This record gives sequence, C-alpha cells and structure tokens, in this order.
Amino acid sequence: MAIISSSLNESNSPRSNKALRIVSSEAIAEDKSPSISNVNRPQLLQEFIGQKALKDSLRIAIDASLYRKECLDHVLFYGQPGLGKTTLALLMANEMKTKCKITNASAIERPRDIVGLLLGLKENEILFIDEIHRLNKLTEEILYSAMEDYKLDLTVGANRGTRSRSISLPRFTLIGATTKVGSISSPLRDRFGISHKINLYSLEELKDIISSFASTLDIRLNKGACLIIANCSRGTPRIALRLLKRVRDYSQVVEKNNNISPEIVQKVMKYQNIDYSGLDETDRKFINVLHINRRPMGLDSIAAALNEDASMLELVVEPYLLQLGFISRTPRGRVLNPLGEEYINKSKKLNED
Ligand code: ADP
Repeated sequence: MAIISSSLNESNSPRSNKALRIVSSEAIAEDKSPSISNVNRPQLLQEFIGQKALKDSLRIAIDASLYRKECLDHVLFYGQPGLGKTTLALLMANEMKTKCKITNASAIERPRDIVGLLLGLKENEILFIDEIHRLNKLTEEILYSAMEDYKLDLTVGANRGTRSRSISLPRFTLIGATTKVGSISSPLRDRFGISHKINLYSLEELKDIISSFASTLDIRLNKGACLIIANCSRGTPRIALRLLKRVRDYSQVVEKNNNISPEIVQKVMKYQNIDYSGLDETDRKFINVLHINRRPMGLDSIAAALNEDASMLELVVEPYLLQLGFISRTPRGRVLNPLGEEYINKSKKLNED
C-alpha cells in the first residue's frame, strides 16, 4: 500500500510531459528532497511567516485543544501549491506534540488503503491528506463516519454472507489540503470544523521568508538581491526557495563565494528568462495572445493557442497574472487590463533599447 507521499503526484500533474518552469509553484523532485524541504520548514506557528489571520485562528484552536486535552478539530487548507499547506500540517503536529502521517489522495486507491491508514493512527495523531479533492467516492464514504464518530463502518463478506461491522478508531485529526476547493464534495467539506484559504504572500513577507531561507542555506544576501528574488517569486515561498537555490548555484560555481549581490541575481533571472515582474515565457505568451486577439478569450482557446494544458494555465499561470492586475476573468472570457497593456509596451521598449 502506497502511503507516504508528501506532495503532488507528478504523473497526475498537468505539466508532467512539458518542460519544467522554474516559476511553477508545483513541487518538483528537488523540492521534495528531505535535506532541503525539511530544513526550511518552520517548526512552530510563530516561525511561520505571514498569513496572520490564519495563524491567529489556528493558535486559538491549538491552545484550546491542548487546554481541554482533546484532539484538534479536522482542518481543511486550500490555496495554490507551494504556499505552506504541508508545512502548516507538520507544524500543527509539532505544536500539538503528536505525529503527522502524510499521504496524497492519489495514493489512496482502494478502500483498504484508507482503512489501513486509519487503523494505523494512534490517539490524537494527525493524518494529512494532500490534494484531498482527488479522493474517490468509496474512500470519501469511509471517511465520513471516521471523521464524525471516530468509527469505521465496514461491509465484510460477499453475497449472502455480507455483514456490517463497526470498528472504533482513536480520536484523530484529519488535515486536508487542496488546490481545488470547489472540487470537494459538500458532505466531505462540511465535516471539517476549521477551513482556511492560504493567500499569496506580500512582497514584505516574501523578503522575510527569503532571508530566513538564506540563513538556513548559509548564504549572505544583501537587501537589493533579496528584493529582486521576492519580486520574481509570484507570491509563493516554494518559488522563492527554488530561485534562491539557483542563485546560490551560480554564485558558488561562477563567483566562487556565498555573497549574493543584486547583479548576480539579475544575471540568474536573465539566464532563466524571468523578467523584472517575475514573468516567464509562458506568462508572456499568455498575455500576448490576449493582446493580439483584442477581445475576451475562453481558457480553452488560450490553451489551444499556446499548446498548453488549460488546467495548468488556470492553476499555475493565471493566479499570478490576476494578482498583478494584468488580466481579469469576466463572464465573456479572460481580458487584458490596461496594466497588462502597459507591461507589454514597456517590455517592447526595453527590447528595442
Ligand atoms: P504546499 O503544501 O502548500 O504545496 P509546502 O508546505 O510544501 O507547500 O511549502 C513549500 C516550501 O515553502 C517549504 O519549503 C516550506 O518550508 C516553505 N514555506 C511555505 N510557507 C512558508 C512560510 N509562511 N514561512 C516560511 N516558509 C514557508
């Protein structure tokens, strides 16, 4: 039974057969390397940078559970990849002084997979299911009574010998994470007592995250260099960490030191084809299609024009362009905003100079 898998299943990823984008927020093999990902994960709620409202409400929930000596209510986190959902689950287990078992919904194929996971839990432990919207119907149904009554209602035997059995489970907390909250069925969604959206990070928050990554990676980063990396990180800590690692590679191999200046960062961004706004080739092609067409376009038409996967564009490319105010989603389709036009004109001018 495949149980432990901490991140997106690459075979299900919309970009699995495309070239990797350094500014994609989806986890790649390097992000999952234990030496890097765990070193950089904050261990306590107070070390987790940004998301103040979310942290305040989790703090109260955790302290209340510790005070009552009860397990935490079930929690649902939703938001784009790389914003800290897994980190929060691990950190909550740490705060609750318990263990967290991590799995991905795509690894839970048969009813016995989820039954095995639930039976393996001890009192107060946390089960983290990433990409929970991918659970199949049978697994979801087993989870309903497990989440609500801490019971496993099973049907055993076949044909005439069929019997129902109910097995008591220890009290546990399910933390679900999803990038597509709309795809979770409402009976499952309703069983989470706490539900939180994780937002993209502000520039200031990203600068703090990058500085903290830099000190764990033993890199000396000046303020200007930190600002450029933050600007190019699309509001996402995972991208910030990945860019920082590329800058470190360049600095160590070419400059032969760990001191990172804005000039080094600019060289690396240029080499990676990322511009001053953090946009890469795919983003630029996306807004150029809207610019050339001069009318609202549906996501499928844009995907066809770019030869890309529509769900990848929706999940990975669009949120950042929306956040920058370059595009809008309207009932008639995606439109390019004046800020997007301004960006295209500025880029043309820069290319001419
Ligand atoms: P998700 O589960 O949402 O895809 P992760 O929890 O795996 O994202 O986070 C990706 C990386 O970003 C991890 O290395 C994590 O430590 C780091 N990270 C995410 N959010 C924060 C934060 N608020 N402060 C510091 N580091 C963060």
